[in-house]
Amino acid sequence: MRTLSLPTGGEMPVLGLGTWRMGENADQRTAEVKAVRDAIALGYRLIDTAEMYGEGGAETVVGQAIGEALRAGDVRREALFVVSKVYPHNASRRGTREACERSLKRLGLDAIDLYLLHWRGNHPLHETVAAMHALLADGRIAHWGVSNFDTDDMQELAQCVGDGPACAANQVYLSLGERGPEFSLLPWQRERGMPLMAYSPIDQGALAHDKGLGELAARLGVTAAQLALAAVMARPGVVAIPKAVRSAHLKQNLAAAELQLDAATLAALDRLHPPPRRKTPLAMI
Ligand code: NAP
Repeated sequence: MRTLSLPTGGEMPVLGLGTWRMGENADQRTAEVKAVRDAIALGYRLIDTAEMYGEGGAETVVGQAIGEALRAGDVRREALFVVSKVYPHNASRRGTREACERSLKRLGLDAIDLYLLHWRGNHPLHETVAAMHALLADGRIAHWGVSNFDTDDMQELAQCVGDGPACAANQVYLSLGERGPEFSLLPWQRERGMPLMAYSPIDQGALAHDKGLGELAARLGVTAAQLALAAVMARPGVVAIPKAVRSAHLKQNLAAAELQLDAATLAALDRLHPPPRRKTPLAMI
């Protein structure tokens, strides 16, 4: 799979697995662990989770699946890229460290590959940045970043970071239905070689039922969801992290990472879902 370089060294695959809504119901747990394990067996290497998802439940699911995959020899730890996030209300200097330790325990890992501030809260940014830098220095995380930061937030963040280790990525809502970040945020990140992680890239499943998209996709021999994902990944500097539990979805999404869209298809997509003509506030789910 194609990868993107991080500004702090290393690489991130252009497609990952989202895990929001996992770990919420005990009766779903077996199916969810299986989905993450199947994803790893199929070739997914990037897994996105957060302490918020199922209040730690999703991290526990991910941890169990990774543990089983490692023990079965399906994958090496170094090949996986695990992303988790700290709640804004925990993102003080001390709270970030404590939250990270709890996440590591649930995940059964010695280090998180990319640790994000989930969205901006009340703790001063410089405190969160200092905590991230300390976690890096202690080897508890390999990279740090943010989520739901708009262009002006990123500018403010850059001031806080100074000469310290840079923010590696920003994860925001970007899909064919929500293209706002393409106007200024994505260009800003591209100039700095900082990947943009697109969450809800299928609009939480809605784009799979988009009629116009479905017709265009059928002509290409793919599904609407696959075309929606391929469109997001076609933007330079963008990583997509669709969530899927169903085996068919896991396979389709992986195949979408290999789709090459020609100029005529990209133009047809622009007619169906036009790019932004002006700056709009960052949307959040
Ligand atoms: P999404 O990935 O756009 O959509 C997920 C839904 O689409 C699920 O219902 C899934 O069904 C369905 N689906 C997946 N692949 C499909 C396919 N090939 N065909 C048809 N339907 C398909 O929405 P999301 O879960 O909101 O976003 C993805 C991830 O981004 C999250 O899981 C989370 O990790 C992250 N996220 C981050 C933030 C943030 O604030 N940082 C916010 C939202 C999301 P099944 O599960 O039944 O297979």
